[in-house]
Amino acid sequence: MEIKEMTGCIALYSSDITTIETVARSLDYNLFCLQVAGKLTALARVIACTPPDILIVDSPGDKTEMEALARLVENASPPPSVLVITVEDAKDLRQVSPLQALSAGETVSKPVCPGKLAEAINSLMASGKRAESSAEKPVESLKDKPLVLVVEDSPLQMKVLLRYLEGRDMDIITATNGHEALKLALEHVPDLVLLDLVLPGMDGFEVCRRIKSTPATSGVPVIVITTLNDQEDKLNSLRHGADDFITKPVDRRELLLKIDNILKRKKQLAVLASEVSRDPLTGLYNRRYMEYALKREIMDAASSESPLSVIMLDVDHFKHYNDTNGHPAGDMVLKTLGKILAATLRQSDIIARYGGEEFLVILPNTGPEGLVQVMENTRRAVEEYPFPNGERQPGGRLTISLGGASFPAHAGEAAELVDLADQALYRAKREGRNCWRLAGENSNHIQ
Ligand code: GH3
Ligand code: MG
Ligand code: MG
Ligand code: MG
Repeated sequence: MEIKEMTGCIALYSSDITTIETVARSLDYNLFCLQVAGKLTALARVIACTPPDILIVDSPGDKTEMEALARLVENASPPPSVLVITVEDAKDLRQVSPLQALSAGETVSKPVCPGKLAEAINSLMASGKRAESSAEKPVESLKDKPLVLVVEDSPLQMKVLLRYLEGRDMDIITATNGHEALKLALEHVPDLVLLDLVLPGMDGFEVCRRIKSTPATSGVPVIVITTLNDQEDKLNSLRHGADDFITKPVDRRELLLKIDNILKRKKQLAVLASEVSRDPLTGLYNRRYMEYALKREIMDAASSESPLSVIMLDVDHFKHYNDTNGHPAGDMVLKTLGKILAATLRQSDIIARYGGEEFLVILPNTGPEGLVQVMENTRRAVEEYPFPNGERQPGGRLTISLGGASFPAHAGEAAELVDLADQALYRAKREGRNCWRLAGENSNHIQ
């Protein structure tokens, strides 16, 4: 059986040895890792430690069991796709309400045919992957249609502008005075503002200056509409941060060309920004972004007088893993590790691939005590994960070592904090690996 170009993690809830064997035999272990749980408690643990892409439920029993399963699925983050192996005709079973609550994406009936199972898994992986790739989109994802804010107080001029823009593939919102324009700009963060200079109340220069000096909207391009050949207005617009200007009476072709150019440039910048801040292998933030984020988070922590911690972690004997299993398998471990970290840590934590097999995590609002707990949870989650050929690693498992440091307890500044976490990591390495160490504690520290 073949499951093409997909990799993922599958949890099987079954205590029926025939089913377990059929599923296990059907999977290509270079592509999937399988975890089997025979009891609900064991399944809860599997889902919490390493959220599966797919959960296969073998002939769910009574209503209580199905409801418990549905709760587990619902609370998983992210919820897995569900495949149900039924004893009865799948179509009939779908009508049963607890099964609907499980939102089974696919059903396969017993006796399980490996070909049908492969098909079902393929289909779930394909739909799951789509969801994942959109979830992993960079922060500033691009909307399909650009949103343009047109600011013009004269009803006639507004009509002309809107007619010029008619039929263009963009969404348009309008404002007739400066205050309204600023409000809309903040609310919608448009892709472009077309801004008349002479407005009642706050004039266009001031609107432009405020858009450009507000962090949330500073990246929004502004095209100013000036009166014919007023050189002072043009210069002033540029001084206030305008990206371009166009003179009245507005020439339709010139307006459309300028808009197209600016939107194209903005799109390129957004792609570039996501490329420079992300690691292509894991989709996590990269070192460059992390350094910027850490400084920002420390400033926030200082101003709100809350603690913050960082963890530096590194795969143990990763060279050995690569040498034994090949570089692509090593890459897969790094990707999986990223997912384990994302699943183990809080939404507000920031995770980056810092170097080859080294990850850095920022934990806002976390002091040394919380840090120690998070390090231990993370260490254990990785230790318990069944990485392919983990048993061939020294120690019989694939593990990580971690070092942690807290602001302001251990250091008051970003570089020093990272340095201390790094030193603690190397103490963990020296003292046996698969363990964590905290900054400022001596080598005799007992975990
Ligand atoms: P330690 O427990 O002391 O950390 O030992 P180690 O073998 O993990 O450390 P070492 O620094 O000797 O080797 C790190 C290895 O990580 C060597 C390098 O080839 C591998 N590596 C770095 N980046 C990548 C990557 O992107 N993909 C893969 N597959 N391997 C990588
Ligand atoms: Mg006007
Ligand atoms: Mg290493
Ligand atoms: Mg290393």
